[in-house]
Amino acid sequence: MQEEKIIYITRKIPEPGLKILDEHNIKYDIGNFKKPPTKKDLIKELKKKNYIGVISFLTDKIDAEVMEACPGVKIFSNFAVGYDNLNIEEAKKRNIFLTNTPGTSAMAVAEHTVALMLALTTRLVEGDEYMRRGKYKGWDPNIFIGTDLHDKTIGLIGAGQIGTEVAKMLRYGFGANIIYSDIKRNTDLENIDGIVRRETAEVLKESDIVSLHVPLLPSTHHLINIETLKTMKPTAFLINTSRGPVVDEKALIEALEKDIIRGAGLDVYEFEPKLSKGLTKLPDVIITPHIASSRQSARDMMAMIASKNIVSFIETGNPINNVY
Ligand code: NAD
Repeated sequence: MQEEKIIYITRKIPEPGLKILDEHNIKYDIGNFKKPPTKKDLIKELKKKNYIGVISFLTDKIDAEVMEACPGVKIFSNFAVGYDNLNIEEAKKRNIFLTNTPGTSAMAVAEHTVALMLALTTRLVEGDEYMRRGKYKGWDPNIFIGTDLHDKTIGLIGAGQIGTEVAKMLRYGFGANIIYSDIKRNTDLENIDGIVRRETAEVLKESDIVSLHVPLLPSTHHLINIETLKTMKPTAFLINTSRGPVVDEKALIEALEKDIIRGAGLDVYEFEPKLSKGLTKLPDVIITPHIASSRQSARDMMAMIASKNIVSFIETGNPINNVY
């Protein structure tokens, strides 16, 4: 009799993803964690049965130790666009597939990015806090003077799926000038009037708002550091909805404290879920809890793609979105 194929899902994923597994008669166990499991807890779970695959989350660090603990697992299907939590070299050595869910949240993350920009330029959060504290005494021409967005130069570092949507929203919606840097050319964007490709150093120097849309790689780790921050305009805002360690957070805090740059809008953090000391004390900083892709539509799509990668691996031996 053929052995039953069963996969492990670290934490509950939306129903549309589970439905796909059910339709293909793939059995699964779901971890009952209220917060991201520690590596020790994850290994304990993975050792319980002979799982052949795992649907993992960006909070699950899948390294040699985890792979060693569950030798039957031949695919880690990440429920995420980014995959910096997966050790590609170790997986290659062991012939383990690693997959992600590309494109599933590009619009959501782009909208959140633009929301952070607007919240900073319109001083939306400060205004809201002011009202709630009962400080509003009537219209005043001198309070909360904001910054225009429409006439600004917005610089994007990384113009893949998310960067492209951000560029289009800001160019078509606001008429802003867009400059972008990417290791690859994006001819789709370059065909749009008002969008041009530059070197990263030029993007940092010339932009009124710099927004990061690169994956976390050795080459992008601390791409924003004290030296690069010093090349930015003192009036500039930095937006990060990519991955925390792309920014040296300590250097960012120093740059904000010393008025090297004006402000920042952050959705991701270098030591997530911890925040570096001093970050919450700074004015002109808006921080959100890694929610840029948090829309039901995006989550459903991520669940469906993560499950489809498992299905195609089991049925054909080849998952759709292997990352290497
Ligand atoms: P993508 O792969 O489509 O685009 C990334 C782009 O960065 C590519 O065009 C690539 O060529 C470019 N790039 C790589 N290294 C570079 C470098 N050194 N300098 C300049 N450009 C470089 O990915 P995407 O879908 O646009 O997502 C980007 C990142 O956003 C993901 O890797 C993920 O970490 C992050 N993300 C965050 C959230 C969130 O909730 N905050 C959600 C989804 C994705």
